[in-house]
Amino acid sequence: MNTEKIDHIGIAVESIEDKLKLYRDVLGLKFSNVESLENRGLKVYFVEIGETRLEFLEPLSENSEISRFLEKKGEGIHHIAFKVKDVEKTVEDCEKNGFKVIAGIQKGAEGKKVAFLHPKTTGGVLIELVES
Ligand code: ZN
Repeated sequence: MNTEKIDHIGIAVESIEDKLKLYRDVLGLKFSNVESLENRGLKVYFVEIGETRLEFLEPLSENSEISRFLEKKGEGIHHIAFKVKDVEKTVEDCEKNGFKVIAGIQKGAEGKKVAFLHPKTTGGVLIELVES
């Protein structure tokens, strides 16, 4: 088995500011970590909730990967990230079984090794694999 846990759910937002009132103030969730991923044009905010986390993705520039998503679909759930022991092996297994990996293995938030599976081969869900 390659995964047993959801690492996080990624949510695309135009701006985090107007979301804090609900997620931080009303629901009382704890924002644990903020990180700028300049190479991907993103600012990432992690929120702890139980054994998993939410990851808010805010664009840093107009041509970031999130900007294209926001233009096309608007704010909302962007991806589901599964925690895997070995991202290289999981990617290999996915490709062997016909699931399309986007842009290979990359350096994601928190310096972790990540890979993304194309939604066309996963039932419409962008899946991120995060090495634990
Ligand atoms: Zn993610």
